[in-house]
Amino acid sequence: MLSIKNISFSYQETKVLSGVSLSLEKGNHLSVMGESGSGKSTLLKAIYGLLHLDSGEIFWENQKILGPNFNLVPGEKYMKYVAQDFDLMPFTSVAENIAEHLSAFEMDTHADRIEELLKVIEMVDFANVKVKNLSGGQKQRVALARALAQEPEILLLDEPFSSIDQFKKNQLRHNLFPYLKEKGITVLNATHDPEDVLSFADSILVLKNGEMLAYNTIAQLYQKPKEKYVASLFGQVNELPISLLKEYSEVDASILVYPHELEISKDSGFEVYVVNNHFKGSHYLVEAVAENGQSVLFKNLHALKIHARAYLNVSLQLVNKRLLPK
Ligand code: ADP
Ligand code: MG
Repeated sequence: MLSIKNISFSYQETKVLSGVSLSLEKGNHLSVMGESGSGKSTLLKAIYGLLHLDSGEIFWENQKILGPNFNLVPGEKYMKYVAQDFDLMPFTSVAENIAEHLSAFEMDTHADRIEELLKVIEMVDFANVKVKNLSGGQKQRVALARALAQEPEILLLDEPFSSIDQFKKNQLRHNLFPYLKEKGITVLNATHDPEDVLSFADSILVLKNGEMLAYNTIAQLYQKPKEKYVASLFGQVNELPISLLKEYSEVDASILVYPHELEISKDSGFEVYVVNNHFKGSHYLVEAVAENGQSVLFKNLHALKIHARAYLNVSLQLVNKRLLPK
């Protein structure tokens, strides 16, 4: 188990992480989410032992992770950290870059292992290509394979698909995360892409200005986000004054509603006027404005006429779930 106990860290005077605590069972996957600058990379570096913490402790099983003041070579052996700037050997081949990280005691299995890892990153045909001739996304995939070469117990991924195009990204996610599960590798994945999270993470830690804003399962955070920042990590979301709904016209509070949860009706609900339609493939995201000037996004199968009037409804059940604390 990975246990992080109330850690804080600052660069010079600036606090970057404060009071972060979590525990992650062996083999579980945690996504670390938050806007850029929220402290995701710093948290991964702290776990890897690259930082001297202001306070708090980190343990893997019963072993304390010591910072750079105690470790001559930074980083722990049973852990791999795939940084945002992957440093590969440019003048050697993809296969050699991976082989360099395989154990010298298992030479006879190297070819099989390299093949297995190349399959995960879908680069079997690139085995003999020099790294300097690869695209940024391909380099990122090689960096992933290299980190997996020694089957680490913990894998720290810092935005692992940031340089990879949308086509490859989906395929890679479907190869990589089940592979890691099967191998029982504990994973912390820093990302701001909800697609990385929704089907693959067991839990999510949300950081904002270096503080833990939420730490829960995806279902909990998606269904009952405590603030818009959390809901926004899953995509677009409306924060609506509840007084828009007739039954609550006197109530001063707001609710979070995802665009697909607003029900459109011919004649009942609150009134909005269509401003714009955004094509999303399977549907349109319609941008509208309510009488009080509130802008509202909702989903519709077809585009609606600009300036057309529509009525929207929010179910009672949703009102109960999504009321934001004042
Ligand atoms: P994220 O990965 O979520 O984008 P980071 O962990 O990289 O965020 O950064 C968190 C904060 O720490 C940011 O405000 C960033 O400017 C600051 N920071 C990161 N690295 C350094 C550094 N080497 N020196 C000073 N400040 C830094
Ligand atoms: Mg980062």
